[in-house]
Amino acid sequence: MVQVVHTVKEIHQIRKDLGKQEKTVGLVPTMGALHEGHLSLIDLARLKSNTVIVSIFVNPSQFAPTEDLDKYPRTLENDKLLIENHIKSNKLNHTNDIIIFAPNVEEIYPSGIPLNIEEQQGVFVNVLGKSHQLEGEIRPTFFRGVATIVCKLFNIVYPNYAFFGQKDAQQCVVIKQLVKDLLYPIEIVLGEIIREDNGLAKSSRNRYLNSNERSIASILYKALNETSILYNNGSLKTGNQLRDNVIKTISNEPSIKIDYITVSNPSTLQDINDEINPNIGALISGAVRIGNTRIIDNIILGIDLQSFGN
Ligand code: AMP
Repeated sequence: MVQVVHTVKEIHQIRKDLGKQEKTVGLVPTMGALHEGHLSLIDLARLKSNTVIVSIFVNPSQFAPTEDLDKYPRTLENDKLLIENHIKSNKLNHTNDIIIFAPNVEEIYPSGIPLNIEEQQGVFVNVLGKSHQLEGEIRPTFFRGVATIVCKLFNIVYPNYAFFGQKDAQQCVVIKQLVKDLLYPIEIVLGEIIREDNGLAKSSRNRYLNSNERSIASILYKALNETSILYNNGSLKTGNQLRDNVIKTISNEPSIKIDYITVSNPSTLQDINDEINPNIGALISGAVRIGNTRIIDNIILGIDLQSFGN
């Protein structure tokens, strides 16, 4: 059975008891509307820690006033069932306690949280240097919201490990910087991207796509994958060549609008235009729009996933 807890006070008590029993705790932060991508992070957490806390919280501070906060799917009962069924049917031979932490907004933002940042009061966390490019260029306050909620969750749960998906690559880089600079004694573990059969990265927002859009959307992954093959066989060498190749392939789908396609240094997130240094590797990442739905995806070249963002 999966236990659902709604208050910070209860989690603090649970954490205290787990500490006395010397049990390790893994935190999987999510916004709910769970899918196999989230479940794969939960499995990673189950392998590493005795108790897994899955937070489910649609975090207002990472949504701009124009974005889909109200529309974002909230499916707590289903999410709980999905985890329970997954554990029952799963081959992982691990017995873990799994706790869903599903607080309401007042619990997490006791001073309130207006979406307009001009009106916000109190403490927010900014990870300078890694939050303004890529996703941050299109969504300027997004990583401030992400860093703030992740700090709050760390302060509530005191996890030994926290699990994040490569799907949100820049988020992984921001969180690793945050853990380093705020001296959290937490190991960050990254999980690979889980995809639909056609290659489209699974996402809670994919439910906004109709079946035609879903098939068109897979071109982002196809373009990234094809480009990484051309890099690995030596046909493409520079950041500019890789970026242009991704854009050229996506342009075959006229109904897709590109927000950005970027080739970046996997630690600093600075653009790479010239030849890629094989010792440093590269992140090719992008965001596109199909109708009103925004899709993000990425591929990491030349380094293993766990060292990404170090
Ligand atoms: P979200 O609920 O979208 O905020 O995502 C919660 C966590 O799940 C984040 O660390 C995401 O990177 C991760 N995640 C989302 N989609 C996927 C996916 N397709 N594969 C693996 N991890 C994912």
